[in-house]
Amino acid sequence: MNQTFSFELFPPKTDKGMSKLQAVVERLRALDPEFFSVTYGAGGSTQERTFDTVDWLLSEGIDVAPHLSCIGATREQIGGILDRYRAQGVHRLVALRGDIPSGMGDHGEFQYANELVAFIREHSGDHFHIEVAAYPEFHPQAVSAHADLDAFAIKARAGANGAITQYFYNADAYFAFVEDCQRLGLDLPIVPGIMPITNYLQLARFSDACGAEIPRWMRKRLEAWGDDLDAIRAFGAEAVSELCRRLLEGGAPGLHFYTMNQAEPTLAIWKNLGLG
Ligand SMILES: Cc1cc2nc3c(=O)[nH]c(=O)nc-3n(C[C@H](O)[C@H](O)[C@H](O)COP(=O)(O)OP(=O)(O)OC[C@H]3O[C@@H](n4cnc5c(N)ncnc54)[C@H](O)[C@@H]3O)c2cc1C
Repeated sequence: MNQTFSFELFPPKTDKGMSKLQAVVERLRALDPEFFSVTYGAGGSTQERTFDTVDWLLSEGIDVAPHLSCIGATREQIGGILDRYRAQGVHRLVALRGDIPSGMGDHGEFQYANELVAFIREHSGDHFHIEVAAYPEFHPQAVSAHADLDAFAIKARAGANGAITQYFYNADAYFAFVEDCQRLGLDLPIVPGIMPITNYLQLARFSDACGAEIPRWMRKRLEAWGDDLDAIRAFGAEAVSELCRRLLEGGAPGLHFYTMNQAEPTLAIWKNLGLG
C-alpha cells in the first residue's frame, strides 16, 4: 500500500513568524510530503492569515490543503472561498465545523461538518479532494461513542474522500475506530494525526480541551521532567516514533504530522522511522 505523509501548519501572526515558517517548510519539503495543510481560525484577521499562508505555499509550487471551517459562516461566504481556492488551483481541502468562539452565539448557516461537505459537493462538484476530521477517542462534545461514530459516517457519506484524526497516543483507539468504520461500510482512508511532544504543560492543556488522552505512563514520566525540555523532547520522540511504527505496521494509510510550525520534532520522528 502506498502510504501518504502530510504536514500541518498554522498561519503565523507576524512577519517574523512567517519568515520562520518559510524556513520550516523548506526543511520539511525535502521529505516530499503529499501536501501541507494550513489551519483556519474563527474571525476575520486569522482567516486572512490562512489565505496569505496558502498564497505563499502555492507561489512556491507546494501542494496545499487549506482547512475550512463553517461555523458562523454563510453559504455565500463559503462559496466565495471555494471559488477563490479553485481559481488558485487548490485541489484539496480539510473540511471542518470549527468551534464557536465564546461570545459569538450563533452557529450561522451550517451546524455540522457534514453540511459543509455536502455544500462543497453541491457548489464545486468533484473538484476538491475533501478530508474530514475523525476522533478515535471521540469528540469532546459527542453525546456518546455511538452517536459520534454515526455522525462521522454521515460526514463521510456526504462526500468525503479521506479523514485525518485528532491526535492520540493509544494506537488501540485508532485501530478500534477504523474497525468500527469498516463495519459501517466506510472505506475512506483514515490517516492518524500525529502530535510530536515538545512541551508537556502546553500539550496537557490542549489535550484536555480537545479530548485527546495522554496515557498515565506517559503523563507521569513527562511530569517528572518538569522544565527539562531536552528530556521531554527525547522521550517524546521515542514514544511517538513507537506509536507511528505500530500504526504503519498495523496498516495505517499514512501519517499527518501536527508540526506546530517546527521542523525538528517531526524530523526526529521521521528519522527514527527510517522513512528516508
Ligand atoms: C484534522 C483536524 C484538523 C482541524 N483543523 C481545524 C482548523 O483548522 N480550525 C479549527 O477551528 N478547528 C480545527 N479542528 C478542530 C475542529 O474544528 C473541532 O474539533 C470541532 O469541535 C469539530 O469539528 P468537526 O469538523 O469534527 O465537527 P463535526 O463533524 O460537525 O462534529 C462536531 C460534533 O457534533 C456531532 N455531530 C456531527 N454531526 C452531527 C449530526 N449530523 N447530528 C448530530 N450531531 C452531530 C459530533 O458527534 C461531534 O460531537 C481540527 C480537528 C482535526 C481533527
